[in-house]
Amino acid sequence: MVTGNQNRAPRSPPAKRRGTTIQVSLDKRGKTGVGRTTARQPLAESNHKKPVAGTSDFPGVKDSENGEVVFGKEEVEALLNEVLKLKKLDAKGNMQLVTDYSKRLKLGLKWSFQEQEKLETELETSRKKCIDTETEMERKVVDLNSFLLNLKNENAALDEKLAKESSEKLDALNHHRLEKDARVDAERLQASLSEDLENIRKEKLAVDKQVISLSETYKRLQEYNTSLQQYNSKLQTDLSVVNESLTKVEKEKLAVVENLSTLRGHYNSIQEQLTSSRVSLDEAVNQKKSLDNEVKCLREELQKVREDRDRHIVQVQGLTADILRRKEVTEKSIVDLENLAAKSQALQEMCSSQAEQICVLQHQLATANEKLKMADLSVIESKSKHEGHEKTISELRSNLADLEQQLISGENLRKKLHNTILELKGNIRVFCRVRPSLPDDGVASEAIVSYPTATESLGRGIDLIQSGQKYPFTFDKVFNHEASQEDVFLEISQLVQSALDGYKVCIFAYGQTGSGKTYTMMGKPDRKGLIPRSLEQIFQASQALTAQGWKYKLQASMLEIYNETIRDLLLPRSSNMDIVRTESGVSGRQYAIKHDADGNTHVSDLTLVDVCSVREISSLLEQASQSRSVGRTQMNEQSSRSHFVFTLRIFGVNEGTEQQVQGVLNLIDLAGSERLSKSGATGDRLKETQSINKSLSALADVIFALAKKEDHIPFRNSKLTYLLQPCLGGDSKTLMFVNISPQPSSSGESLCSLRFAARVNACEIGIPRRQTTMRPIDSHLNCG
Ligand code: ADP
Ligand code: MG
Repeated sequence: MVTGNQNRAPRSPPAKRRGTTIQVSLDKRGKTGVGRTTARQPLAESNHKKPVAGTSDFPGVKDSENGEVVFGKEEVEALLNEVLKLKKLDAKGNMQLVTDYSKRLKLGLKWSFQEQEKLETELETSRKKCIDTETEMERKVVDLNSFLLNLKNENAALDEKLAKESSEKLDALNHHRLEKDARVDAERLQASLSEDLENIRKEKLAVDKQVISLSETYKRLQEYNTSLQQYNSKLQTDLSVVNESLTKVEKEKLAVVENLSTLRGHYNSIQEQLTSSRVSLDEAVNQKKSLDNEVKCLREELQKVREDRDRHIVQVQGLTADILRRKEVTEKSIVDLENLAAKSQALQEMCSSQAEQICVLQHQLATANEKLKMADLSVIESKSKHEGHEKTISELRSNLADLEQQLISGENLRKKLHNTILELKGNIRVFCRVRPSLPDDGVASEAIVSYPTATESLGRGIDLIQSGQKYPFTFDKVFNHEASQEDVFLEISQLVQSALDGYKVCIFAYGQTGSGKTYTMMGKPDRKGLIPRSLEQIFQASQALTAQGWKYKLQASMLEIYNETIRDLLLPRSSNMDIVRTESGVSGRQYAIKHDADGNTHVSDLTLVDVCSVREISSLLEQASQSRSVGRTQMNEQSSRSHFVFTLRIFGVNEGTEQQVQGVLNLIDLAGSERLSKSGATGDRLKETQSINKSLSALADVIFALAKKEDHIPFRNSKLTYLLQPCLGGDSKTLMFVNISPQPSSSGESLCSLRFAARVNACEIGIPRRQTTMRPIDSHLNCG
């Protein structure tokens, strides 16, 4: 009933968060996530096409110009909140109303899919745009910052250089001034020296003249001296001649004296001669004396002249030395002067080059300042741009948040619609899973299954090839041999979630022995199956709901139906005496199945274990699988020859809202569905197989009777169908896995399984109902 929507418990949080894992709906019709929004027509509709009534007369639905039906959020909300006015005793009318309502809901769902798709694309583009802009901006800011930093560094370096150059320039100017002073001093000195030099030159000239005159005098004096010497020598010669003549005279005197005696005659004369000679001698002596005096005088004069000359020579030498010295000094000062001139030239050159350099530096500084200004301007510009961008980003962000909000509400709406459609549809959903080829299978000659690639049956179709003939099938979902345990669980996680929301959920695996039923339901320690994964999810979700005031109590039971006998798999081993199989298949303890008015099933004496953690459940599963009956057939050494039923009862109570929910999760691993001839069983095994086949055909009978809406549904024909009556009878959400083996030798069995599954899939067996109540005051969790 539609009124079942009232007093709804809060939706459990989705199994996986958006963005990390695709949230999965019960079947792929409403699969969320990017790129997987193709909605599928409900199977009942696709398999039995019925004419669609016009929509223009639907309340809250508008017709667009091109004739398409246009929905709005309000229309959909109105549609959802619409209460169907069903008339008593007018089943046909009511049916028509429900059908119309369902069609409108379908249209609404379609619209919500389109809306969601649009919103997702919009969101994606704005996200991308936002990310692009952000990255671009960040890159720009980083670039500008580094450019600014470079410029600042350059500027600092230039400033430093400028300061250095300025101080150098100051030094150079000081130096230049000093040099200038030195040069002026040197020039002054040079001028005075030049004057001195001039004076000295003049003096030198005068001295030269004097020297020349002195030399001339000296020459003359020498000549005079020579002449005097000549005269002296002449005088000496004369003297010697006189002396000789004197001697001669004396000799003659002697001769005369001699002759006097002898020549007394001559005495007088001689006397006279003597006297005259004496006079002449005196004269000569006087002459000699005067000459001697004259010579002495001359000698003195010569001496004087010589002394004078020597003095002059000394003076000349001193003057020459002085001149030489002066010359040297002058030369030195000329050299100094030249050096100083060269230095001053160099300094001037340096000065001019430094001035040039300063000019260049000033120019550089000006350009750097200009650049800095430009950079400042560009920084300001980019800052304003950045601010603009940031504004845009924040706008985009708020837009994004809005869109996300819209998306979330759209998603919620879609879920609501999807759930409503599922509830209204009411047929058993069927998933098909093909296991991979195993090493034990041997080399397969050819593949017996293929998967159609047409869009309408993508992921839902499977073709079985037998004896060259192709048998096509379509289910709610087909998992090929590559599908992982996680892929499979993702598809059913929402169904498991509904158990927490108060639904009865029943998932069973059907297929021949060795097709992968136990693998799908239980899995392996490293590749966990649906049962452990479902329990983990329920624990996590129930813990997450405690924040909203929900408290959950979980009770697990595990049984198997072997040869039409129920066995408690959680009984302690010692007390489990009743598990001994008897020839008749009747065990010691009888477990009675009872259904109460609320549609809850009770099995008398069955062990119910309160579970509080995943670990506890794991050990229970371990215990159950150990005590489970396994037989040996040709097909599968560890094949289960019994139906395994895991039941988790969920009791939830919300202290805040006084709400109570009761959900049930049944996970069933059916025994192999193969026909008798195949397993080659005899004796006990034959009996087992017969029993299994009987219960499976009872299951089929129940389903088909339900589909035909027969008055009598043969639930009691087998323990399995009786146990599952509330689940099959239309109150629960039921999903069947049909497991297929890829072996060519199993193609016959596979075809049977697929045909059975297809028939089940086409059955409409009822509308699932949630079991929620308002809690009576002071009531406590009642686990029934
Ligand atoms: P069933 O319970 O239907 O008799 P099982 O679940 O025991 O079949 O599977 C038979 C064998 O095939 C097991 O060894 C199991 O590990 C393997 N198997 C089944 N399905 C798969 C799968 N999807 N991937 C890998 N191995 C699988
Ligand atoms: Mg098995």
